[in-house]
Amino acid sequence: MEAPVIVIALGGNAILQRGERGSFAEQYRNVRNTVTKIADLIERGYRIVITHGNGPQVGSTLLRHEAAKNIVPPLPLDACGAETQGFIGYMIQQALRNELKKRKMDKYVITVVTRVIVDKNDPAFSNPTKPVGPFYTKAEAEKVKEEIPQIVIKEDAGRGYRRVVPSPDPKIIAERYAIRSLLDSGFVVVACGGGGIPITEEEGYAEGVEAVIDKDLAGERLATLIGANKFIILTDVPGAYVDYGTSNARLITHSTPDEMKKIFDEGHFKEGSMGPKVTAALRFVESGGEEAIIAELDKLVDALEGRSGTHIRR
Ligand code: ADP
Ligand code: MG
Repeated sequence: MEAPVIVIALGGNAILQRGERGSFAEQYRNVRNTVTKIADLIERGYRIVITHGNGPQVGSTLLRHEAAKNIVPPLPLDACGAETQGFIGYMIQQALRNELKKRKMDKYVITVVTRVIVDKNDPAFSNPTKPVGPFYTKAEAEKVKEEIPQIVIKEDAGRGYRRVVPSPDPKIIAERYAIRSLLDSGFVVVACGGGGIPITEEEGYAEGVEAVIDKDLAGERLATLIGANKFIILTDVPGAYVDYGTSNARLITHSTPDEMKKIFDEGHFKEGSMGPKVTAALRFVESGGEEAIIAELDKLVDALEGRSGTHIRR
């Protein structure tokens, strides 16, 4: 029997820890720790596709472009997404390959610059909600708006003004066949980083759009479209809780899509954090996936073997 295919979605803490400024050395050190957990799975024979977030990294990239705009022209958001897929993929490729080599394993790691097709009529395009990039004062915000009239800037929870972009629902992973074929050739694949580069397709012509796709929702599309057996979302908490943040908080260890939907509708999972993880997990199982797991990064092996995390199956 072929070894099971697992898609792993890494949360922000796999690359950057709370309180860190985000130097390359800090990020690489975190990635080196993260890949030891992934190597444990590869050693057990699982075939792995890795995806990851890019929130803080693309924020820094936008800041760099903004700060240097009088010297070099800034890149659009889709190109910034590609930049971060590249450098984060590089860190994972190098750190994981070093770890596999140390364990005398004949396995190689490859990153795929991944585009994700979104619907150009997605309602998100007429209601941008996702804050990206630097904070501005009111005066700065007005000046940016004058320079680039098409961008939308909103007040962000009393912390200043920030650009907001649409967050459309991911539909199709454009590079799905390439990813599957690399996996079948024996590679460990890094793909769909930062939720992928959003593109729209009209009459067969693809074009990048200034938007951000949620990495957990894109991870589900990736897992479903390559036919993964399991989809595991790693984050900085042990799983999904009911009454999270109260003294009654209780970890959901095993659940079904129906039960999970009911808990979702009761408002237990916060929008923008646990909400999209649970939605992604539900979609995976409802699209025919065997099991979706939400777990803590440090507990990856325990989670996959059923001893930790939130497990959702039919
Ligand atoms: P990641 O970078 O891993 O996507 P997020 O911050 O987006 O991290 O999501 C994880 C966070 O979700 C947790 O740190 C926790 O604060 C928050 N959260 C909100 N609701 C819940 C819940 N019901 N159960 C567990 N965590 C929750
Ligand atoms: Mg998140």
